[in-house]
Amino acid sequence: MHFDIFTLFPGMFQGPFSESILKRAQERGLLSIALHNIRDATIDKHHVVDDYPYGGGAGMVMKPEPIFASIEAVYQGGPIILMTPQGRVFNQQIAHELAQEPRVSLLCGHYEGIDERVCRQLVTDEISIGDYVLTGGELAAMIVVDAVSRLMPGVLTEGSAEDESHSNNLLEYPQYTRPPDFRGWRVPDTLLSGHHAQIALWRRKEALRKTKQRRPDLFARLDLSSKQDVKLMKELDAEE
Ligand code: SAH
Repeated sequence: MHFDIFTLFPGMFQGPFSESILKRAQERGLLSIALHNIRDATIDKHHVVDDYPYGGGAGMVMKPEPIFASIEAVYQGGPIILMTPQGRVFNQQIAHELAQEPRVSLLCGHYEGIDERVCRQLVTDEISIGDYVLTGGELAAMIVVDAVSRLMPGVLTEGSAEDESHSNNLLEYPQYTRPPDFRGWRVPDTLLSGHHAQIALWRRKEALRKTKQRRPDLFARLDLSSKQDVKLMKELDAEE
């Protein structure tokens, strides 16, 4: 999968994209990321990328010409996504959607934002990473690249994305590793038993417990009609 990222601050991406899992995915050819400095697409002497807003008001607005030029110079298809607090709110389902695409372009705004003609005429989708306002779209783009990349086959160990939080409206069950006893706090016996069916049941139950307690909104969307879930929910209710 290939990401083209359009930004005024390509240097911001250096750290996050050159460590750990994203670094390895790029080295193994599963993922490629091209950073494009929008300023390089200016043709005026002073390389101006922003200007005062028509109608007045605080802050600067990114001009349309360099953004169009920058994207049009390299565009080879796929969604062109503007990072903006006004977009649809990013979640695991959107991450799965984007992971199907061979190419994705991400456009990062800065300052007060971007000339509306870019949004209307060039961009095909708008994504927000949450209901708060950042200084720029760069951190948001990094989050999208990170969440999408780890869903691509081969990037994580096979199977490790399957049970995860938000993959099916369920938060993940609690995880433990060695030692079995740490300062007297013991790992639940079931997990040490080696009994796979019982471990699966324990995990399902704890995932249901967590989701019900922490995210009633997700819990309400679960289908709990199976015999097994009915029984687990009875147990949970009794324990409350
Ligand atoms: N004045 C704009 C906000 C500008 S913030 C408004 O009120 O809508 C500057 C830039 O940061 C935006 O252009 C966008 O690219 C990015 N940004 C800010 N908050 C974001 C969020 N929650 N998700 C994604 N991008 C965001």
